[in-house]
This record gives sequence, structure tokens and C-alpha cells, in this order.
Amino acid sequence: MAVDYYQTLGVSRDATTEEIKKAYRRLAMKHHPDVATDDPNAEEKFKEIAEAYEVLQDPQKRSVYDRGGDPMNRNGGGGAGFGPGFPGGAFDFTNLVDAMFGAPTARGPRSRVRRGQDALVRLTLTLAEAGFGVTKRITVDTAVLCPTCSGAGTANGTQPVTCSTCHGQGEVITSQRSFLGEIRTSQPCPTCRGFGSVIPTPCGECAGEGRVRSQRTINVKVPAGVSSGNRIHLDAQGEVGPGGGPAGDLYIELSVTPHERFKRNGDDLELVVRVPMTAAALGTEMQLQTLEAERDDTDPDDTEVTLRIPAGTQSGTRIAIKDRGVPRLRGSGRGDLGVTLLVTTPQKLDDEQRELLRTLAELRGETSPEPAVEKHGKGVIGWLKDAFS
Ligand SMILES: [Zn+2]
Ligand SMILES: [Zn+2]
Repeated sequence: MAVDYYQTLGVSRDATTEEIKKAYRRLAMKHHPDVATDDPNAEEKFKEIAEAYEVLQDPQKRSVYDRGGDPMNRNGGGGAGFGPGFPGGAFDFTNLVDAMFGAPTARGPRSRVRRGQDALVRLTLTLAEAGFGVTKRITVDTAVLCPTCSGAGTANGTQPVTCSTCHGQGEVITSQRSFLGEIRTSQPCPTCRGFGSVIPTPCGECAGEGRVRSQRTINVKVPAGVSSGNRIHLDAQGEVGPGGGPAGDLYIELSVTPHERFKRNGDDLELVVRVPMTAAALGTEMQLQTLEAERDDTDPDDTEVTLRIPAGTQSGTRIAIKDRGVPRLRGSGRGDLGVTLLVTTPQKLDDEQRELLRTLAELRGETSPEPAVEKHGKGVIGWLKDAFS
């Protein structure tokens, strides 16, 4: 009776080696006689699974099988019709056991001293701080070197001693007899947790850890031109490792709070200024407070800038004031301060004002509106969107 190996493993005929291996592991774990102890047929089932895997994971045997041959070569090769059951001792178990449990590797004792973990803290900045740079003092909860034992973990005048369970190897090997033969597995030594030595009298301050929890205050220099999501990387400012191991790194993730007037767009700062209709028509000048005015150390000359609004300014016009934006994070120079002008129409008019406007409208022949004509590609709607987004 022919066995369908693909069916045994529950894979399709074009399954990849990886899929076959996965299916095998899953089934082998389930049907292993040591696991499925309440199933009297477990051993038989496991053998079928093992045989199917043995054939299908080997490209040569698989191709013999696919062509209708006997990959186990039980009938002297060639013919179809396999003998049922398990060809005792006919194939190599090492592969199977390794596939299931992973090949045991000699690890040896692990070091008590390990590198500390990296840490991430968040720092919130104002737009001015992010734009022009700032030095911030931050306090971080971290692990520092134990001041009592300097990382050794031992009480003063004592030494670690070799672990008597594993004799310093850091691992224990357990052998299990099964129908497959002897299965050897190695595990970290439970007595010394794999270190190969134990600390009989741990340091009272760190309980043998070599490090203690503490708070540290660090000055963080934030360069000009950073944005939300930027991270500052401080080498070896993270937590000290177990056994007083080298400190991990500290990452400071920046987030910038929105400003009520200024909006950042790359290196440019954007601002909207409302201009009364009459001022827009006649032209005017105004003093604008810059974002730099919010810094403590700004030159008084830099806290204001003069904005000239030419006569006949249209709503949505953007005036770029050169080099009054944010310093570039990479490279030199600064972006622009972009001022978008929003022309406002008077809403409450008294009788005299209404009369004046009516006279003006008549003088200009402006008594009825006209549909706008889109020009310059972007058109009226385009700039309106830009101005108010
Ligand atoms: Zn200590
Ligand atoms: Zn041990």
C-alpha cells in the first residue's frame, strides 16, 4: 500500500522545503510519544510523520518519490508499492532530533557583565526651542553602577565561587531515553542561572546585580532646526548593564508643541496676517514680532521685523522675508519667514462709511461681481487653499 507523504504532513505537492519542515515540526511536537502519552498509536503515527519528513526534506528522495519510486530503496530500488511501516534503523535520526529541538551547542558559562539596555525618553520643546536650539536639563530614571561594590555584586572582601551544580560550565545536560535513542538537551544551570559561579554573599546595596536604580540629570544640547520625531542619540548615557556592564545608549525623542501664530514648514516659518481691505488697497507697513522674540538671548534688533504691504495687495499674497525662518539643521543659512496676507472685508458699517463705499464703488464702476478666471496654473482656488490650510 502506497503512503501519501504529502498527506501525512498535510502539505501540498508543491510545498517548499521550509513549509515541509514547519509542518513536520508541528506534527512531531504533537505526536511525539513522550508528549502524546495517552494515544496508544502515537508511536506509529510519529514514525509515519518522521518517514514522510525524511523523504520530502531531501530533494533527491523527494524526486524519486514524486516519480513513483521508492526513496527508501526497500524493494531494491525502482518499483512502486512501498512496504508499509517503518524501516527500523534505515535512516538517520540526527536530522529529526535536530529539527525538533535544535542542535545542542556548547555555550559555556555566560558572563555576569553585560551591556545595559538603550533607553528612550521624550522631550517636549516649544517651536522657538526647536527652531533655534536650546540646552535642556532632563532627569532620567536609569540604572547606575553600584557605588558600594563597583559592579562586582559581591559583599566587600568576598568572591564569587564556582557553581557546584554545573562545576562552572553554566549549563546542565539532561539525557532522555526514547525509542529514538538518547536525546541530550542542554539547559542553563538553574543554580547559577548559567553564570558558572555563584555569589555566596551578595553586595547589600545592589543584591548582587552590580547596579542600582537611580535618577540622573543630564544636559541635553538640542541643535537648531530640529522637528518632532527627531531623536538625539547620546552614546553610553543609557542604563548601566548587569554586573556593572557598559551603559547602553540614550535616545531622546523630540516633540514640538504647536505655536499659536507661527507654523513651521521645513526651514520656513509661516504666519498669517489680517489686512483690512482699505489698508490692502492703499498699502501700509507694520512691525511683526518674530519667533526669536521668544528666546531669552535674542538680540533686541532681531525681535521685530518690518513688513511692507504694497498698495493693491490681494488676499492670499505671500510675502517671503528672507533669512528670518529657522536655521537649517543640515547646512548653513536660514529659511524664510513667509507672511500670507488675508484681506478682511469690513462687516459693521455705519451710515457714513456705507455712503463712502457706495460712492467709491460707483466711481470705480464696481457694482456687480464677476466669475474669477483661473490664471497661472494654480488659480484662485489653489492659493485660497494654501492660504488657509
Ligand atoms: Zn553592589
Ligand atoms: Zn551552575
